[in-house]
Amino acid sequence: MKSTKKQIQKGSIGILGIPFDQNSSFQKGPSLAPDRIRESYFSTSSNLWSEKGLDLGSIKHLYDLGDINFKENIDDFNLITDSVKNIIDQDCYLICLGGDHSVTFPIIKAHAQKYRHLNILHFDAHPDLYDSLDGNIHSHACPFARIMEKKLAARLVQIGIRTMNGHQREQAEKFGVEVNEIKNGDNFLNELEFEGPVYISLDLDCLDPAFAPGVSHHEPGGMTTRQVIDIIHHLKGKIIGADIVEYNPDRDLHSMTSMVAAKLLKEIIAKIYEDTI
Ligand code: MN
Ligand code: MN
Repeated sequence: MKSTKKQIQKGSIGILGIPFDQNSSFQKGPSLAPDRIRESYFSTSSNLWSEKGLDLGSIKHLYDLGDINFKENIDDFNLITDSVKNIIDQDCYLICLGGDHSVTFPIIKAHAQKYRHLNILHFDAHPDLYDSLDGNIHSHACPFARIMEKKLAARLVQIGIRTMNGHQREQAEKFGVEVNEIKNGDNFLNELEFEGPVYISLDLDCLDPAFAPGVSHHEPGGMTTRQVIDIIHHLKGKIIGADIVEYNPDRDLHSMTSMVAAKLLKEIIAKIYEDTI
């Protein structure tokens, strides 16, 4: 992965850090995530090959674009949307490293301008469909309510969900969200086929806390790392972008969770590369 601040080549894959956790409702920490995930990505405890045999250390067109620099007096969400738009308008596929999950709304705003009929595959313990939480409509518990009410996605498919409540069930029905609650097993896998571009939004708390303790909200009964990787590998659809969010280094043990984030990053890069380049 080359570091660059320069113009990137058409058809490239870019990695952008979004060190932002102002909309976390419970604990701060995800703003520290991007550099920790980079460290684990390059850790010599592993290597830079994807499981399916792509050497990420040697491919061209893979760029680390650094982090968004948040400044006072500039609207944070507009800055995220503009930063993402600048990159994807160069015909580049972008993977963002959060940050709390609120960043997905401004990221999707930019993608929805570029891609018609955008599908979102959302991994999470939580539906994140609150109309507002603690008086904040941009809470990390709300991004998919904002996305769906603005009709930025044609289809929203959720996986790993295990905290559904009355309000969010109503919201899911109102917006036509395809919620696959984890209690119902994995029958949905056969239907995981998409027409048109697919964006993956990966909240690391979709995983069981045993696999990913470094998140703010420990919700037992979650997915295995293996399940998430298998879904990425077998997904029928063209991935055009992704985010990996909610990693909280303050809650991690021996970088276990940043290694998981880095592993999933490698597999998503490889999937985009195989599908598009
Ligand atoms: Mn989330
Ligand atoms: Mn979550």
